[in-house]
Amino acid sequence: MSLYILSKEKLPAFVEALQAGFRVVGPVRTPTGFAFEEITQADQLQLDYTTTILPPKKYFLPQRETLFKYHTGSNPEGAQSVDVEPVFQDVQPTVIFGMHTCDMSGIMLYDKVFSEGFRDEHYMTRRDKMVIIGIECLHPCDDASFCKDMGTLTAPPIYDLHMTEVDDDYLIDTGSEKGERLLLNYSEAKMATTDHMQRLGRVLSAKWPRFRMRLKMSKDQTPSLLTLGYNAHIWEELGERCLACGSCTNVCPTCFCFDVQDELDINMQDGERVRVWDSCQLHEFALVAGGHNFRESKASRVRHRLMRKGKYIKQVHGLSGCTGCGRCERACLVDITIPGTLNALHDEMKVESGV
Ligand code: SF4
Ligand code: SF4
Repeated sequence: MSLYILSKEKLPAFVEALQAGFRVVGPVRTPTGFAFEEITQADQLQLDYTTTILPPKKYFLPQRETLFKYHTGSNPEGAQSVDVEPVFQDVQPTVIFGMHTCDMSGIMLYDKVFSEGFRDEHYMTRRDKMVIIGIECLHPCDDASFCKDMGTLTAPPIYDLHMTEVDDDYLIDTGSEKGERLLLNYSEAKMATTDHMQRLGRVLSAKWPRFRMRLKMSKDQTPSLLTLGYNAHIWEELGERCLACGSCTNVCPTCFCFDVQDELDINMQDGERVRVWDSCQLHEFALVAGGHNFRESKASRVRHRLMRKGKYIKQVHGLSGCTGCGRCERACLVDITIPGTLNALHDEMKVESGV
């Protein structure tokens, strides 16, 4: 749409103005690392952060949310009755400030997952209230990042505003009318000139060589590699190492599996249905009636996670199930990583095929 310029010193005033009408969330420094949290003062916002422990998904898909409340009883004729009242939790106008391009890719996937086929009204109602202000990554977060391999180093088309740091200014691209309105109403941004655009072009072309590639194959080859390697030895090896702790899925911006539980009050009449994040790496995840577990071994669960990341999600939604953010690598205590696994699988298949 349009390109604007806002000097860095005017950014705090923009954040404070937004706070009048929105909950403003952004990366802040905490004792254990950066985290997306509500900003109460503009100077808390750390736009030069590396990465956060958890992605901003907790604002789109809370770790625990009530879907509906119910009351069971009997009607005046004495027949059994159930009254159900939908609950829409944590729906409020929210600006998520400073989202990296990989995390925006995660939200783009969620938008498809929760709207295609079955439309999830709880997600979509919350999503409608969200404003996304992205920030261009000019340096890799750390050695665990592989966003360049996964094609998430540029902003996907879901942002309302997207900022790039250029010297003492931010150049701000507008991705939606809502974003442009907010920028014009709440900040002192000015239209960018041709000179600003040239400076932006120089900053963007200088960033690419700073990011390294980690995969031995292109992201488009991972579905066929995983199909070929379904019975590879690597899965047993990883299964022996894996602790089945679920940390990798909890920190992942593209994992969305959840469990649904009924919580019945002690009066045996009132209750609520809640959904909570779940993890395919936990033993109970695939445990079904009769005590059968259809992914009993850790090897089968590690393989399942990789199949989802590199093949299944793409087949269903047309987008990769991994953004290359590197969070699972940072969280895993036994060094099970997406690039390490795919590269080892690539090598094993190469040996097997004699190429
Ligand atoms: S699988 Fe790992 S690297 Fe990929 S998106 Fe999830 S946390 Fe990030
Ligand atoms: S974080 Fe590592 S050890 Fe824990 S479940 Fe994931 S792969 Fe296994």
